Amino acid sequence: MIERLLNPWIRDLIPYSSARSEFSAPADILLDANESWEGGNSGINRYPDPLALKLRKKMEEVLSLPLSMTAIGNGSDEIIDMLIRMFCIPGKDSILIERPTYGTYSVFAHTSGVDVINVMLTPSLDLDADAMLETIERKKPKIVFICTPNNPTGRVYPLSVIRAIAEANSGITAIDEAYCDFADGFESAVSLINSNPRVVVLRTLSKAYGVAGARLGILVSDPDVQRVFMKAKPPYNVSSLSQEAGYKALCEAEKVRERVRETKERRTAFSSYLASLPFVEEVFPSQANFVLIRVQNAKALYDYLVSRSIIVRNRSSEPMLDNTIRITIGSEEEMQALKEALDEWK
Ligand SMILES: *Cc1c(COP(=O)(O)O)cnc(C)c1O
Repeated sequence: MIERLLNPWIRDLIPYSSARSEFSAPADILLDANESWEGGNSGINRYPDPLALKLRKKMEEVLSLPLSMTAIGNGSDEIIDMLIRMFCIPGKDSILIERPTYGTYSVFAHTSGVDVINVMLTPSLDLDADAMLETIERKKPKIVFICTPNNPTGRVYPLSVIRAIAEANSGITAIDEAYCDFADGFESAVSLINSNPRVVVLRTLSKAYGVAGARLGILVSDPDVQRVFMKAKPPYNVSSLSQEAGYKALCEAEKVRERVRETKERRTAFSSYLASLPFVEEVFPSQANFVLIRVQNAKALYDYLVSRSIIVRNRSSEPMLDNTIRITIGSEEEMQALKEALDEWK
C-alpha cells in the first residue's frame, strides 16, 4: 500500500545496522560500539537508543500513541525532511501546502529539489478544500502538508475536511499537530490512520511539553511507514540527553496540563486587551499558544518593540498577511511588560 509511494532507492535501502540493534538479550559487557569504557553502561559515554524505546513507551502511556505507530525525530523538522526524502523524487515530484503556513515544509522540499505547490487559504483563513481537491487531482503531489492549528493563523480545520482531502489524495497526507494541546475539543487526525495508512501525523514536544531545546518531534503513522522511517533515519538521530529530557517532560503531564490551561487563559485575556488597542485592526482568534494581529504598520511596531527589548514575529511577508504580527503567549510578567510597551506606543 505504502510501498508504491516510496522513492525506489528508499524502498530498496539496506539500512545501517547499528551495534546495539543486532542483539536484544540483556548484556553486561558492551565492547561492540567503540565507546569509552569510563562511565558505565548507561551513561553519556554510550550511544543513544536508536529506537528511543523508553521515551516511546512513555508516550504510549501518556499520549495514547501506540508504540508500533511512533518514531522520534530530531525535532519535527527532521521528520518533515525525512518524509520528503522518503517519498519525493527530486526534480520530479511535488508537495502541496496551504499558504500561509509554517515555513519549513517548502524549505525542506527545496533543499531536496522538490517542487512546492501553494494553495491559498480562503479570505477567512480556512482551508480552501475545493481548490485543494482540484489541485491534488490535477498535480498529483506526493505529499500534502496540512498544519492544524495552523501557524501563524492559529486556526483549526475540521477533521471532516482533512479526512476528505486525505481520501482524495493518492499520496501521503501529513497533518502537523504541533499546537494541538492548546486547541479546545481538538479532534486529532491520528484517528484517520487506521482506515487510511497514507495519513501521517506530526507532533512535537517543543511547544506544550516545554522541551524545544531537546529537539523531539514525533511521527505518528501506520506501522509500515514507521518501519521505513526507522530504516531511513540517521541511526542515532536523537541524543540520550534529549530522550531523557522528553521522558521527564512526559512524567510531568499534570504540570504540562496546568501550564497549558494557564496559557489558554492568558491567551483569552491578552486577545481582549489587544482588541481594545486603537492601532490593532484585527485579532485573529487563536487555538494555539500565540496570537496573530493585524496593525496599521507592522514594521514600525516590530521595530519599536525591539527597541523595548521585546521580540515578536512580523508575518507581513506572507501572502494575505500584510501588516501582521505573531505574538507568543509568554509568562504573566512577560505579557505585563509587553502590555506596558504597547500602552506607550503611539
Ligand atoms: C514549532 C512548530 C513545530 C515544531 O518543530 P520542532 O522541530 O519539533 O521543534 C512543528 N510544526 C509547526 C507548524 C510549528 O510551528
